[in-house]
Amino acid sequence: ERFIEWEVSYTFPAIGLRTIFFNAQHIPDENNTRLILLALNDITLRTEAEKIQSHQNLIMILESVPQITFSATADGAFNYFNNFFLDYAGITLPGALERNWMDIINPAQLNDVSQSWSHSIKTLENFNKEFQLRRKSDGMYRWHICRATAIINDQGVVTSWVGSATDIDEQKVLEKAKDEFISIASHELKTPLTSAKAFLQIIEHSMQQKKSADLIYIKKAGAAIDRLTGLVVELLDVSKIQHGKLGMHIASFNFNKMLSEAIESVQISSTKHTILQTGQIRKEIKGDEQRLKQVIINLLSNAIKYSPEADKVFVNAELKNGIVKVSVKDTGIGISKKNLNKIFDRYYREDGRAVHFQGLGVGLSIVKEIIQRHNGKIWAESEPGSGSTFYFTLPV
Ligand code: ADP
Repeated sequence: ERFIEWEVSYTFPAIGLRTIFFNAQHIPDENNTRLILLALNDITLRTEAEKIQSHQNLIMILESVPQITFSATADGAFNYFNNFFLDYAGITLPGALERNWMDIINPAQLNDVSQSWSHSIKTLENFNKEFQLRRKSDGMYRWHICRATAIINDQGVVTSWVGSATDIDEQKVLEKAKDEFISIASHELKTPLTSAKAFLQIIEHSMQQKKSADLIYIKKAGAAIDRLTGLVVELLDVSKIQHGKLGMHIASFNFNKMLSEAIESVQISSTKHTILQTGQIRKEIKGDEQRLKQVIINLLSNAIKYSPEADKVFVNAELKNGIVKVSVKDTGIGISKKNLNKIFDRYYREDGRAVHFQGLGVGLSIVKEIIQRHNGKIWAESEPGSGSTFYFTLPV
């Protein structure tokens, strides 16, 4: 090469950290001796100035955003809050930097927020948290969603953190009202449904004795009520989860028997699909049998629902190294990669083909909660158009 340039930062024992710019040129001459001209230039001050300029540019951007923004040093000490935050909180910048920012966070949440912040600083994972910040003008704690990201330089070193907090209080209030409505509505719906089902059973019984031709309609009405009850129970479970009231009844049970019962109850109402089981778990397992059965029924019902053109779904169960692993596989419509995590969120339903199938979008969120309460894990793998496999594991 005739010409190269490079920059290096080096700590000299006598004068400390300097940034040196090297420039090397090969100077050809007629005798063909290898002559290289090397120039060294101390550009420490220039890089410092560039840093200050880029910091000023960053501050200009952070000031122009109509939200709370802030920055911090690599070790997590805040070194800037924008005026939007100072106005909102009614504090000064020196005050905010001198730890007054802590007074603005809801004291009940401060510990949790600090822990998450330390965790992000240590692991460099993005900070992402919802908490309440006190507004000076009315003293109200308003919900914000706060996000922060580490800024990493060319050498892969974290130079600072930049973050924002967005006011989501109105959204939160609406969400709470919706959750409360669902909780009340599902309770109110359950009682009349139970009595309608009981009366239908009486009519069914008497029609059976009279061998009435209308028996089939009563059976259909019964099936419709069962489906409605299933939906109401799903909503009730969701509100129990939200209020931390989804009780678990942990006891030893026969996993194989539970799995067979779950498969049978789904198979009975499926005319097209056959559920094929492989693997056995010949061990008593500790857990909530009914809730785990609910998990398998839910995964199997989804596998059937989202594979309308197929005629088989597959279940496998195995016990390895003290961990139960169950998979439910279908060859249906599949799930796009970017949504594989979202499908476990409450009320989330994939757009596209999935919206043509009935459902409330809460089943998998309940399933996830049940598995997590057993200290297990749940995930899905999928290839859109060729099918999905759902897995869960439970420690024994
Ligand atoms: P629901 O089926 O009532 O919509 P779920 O919580 O059970 O709600 O599932 C959430 C979303 O995940 C569904 O709306 C669908 O988009 C997707 N999904 C779940 N299971 C499957 C599957 N086996 N194949 C394809 N998509 C699925």
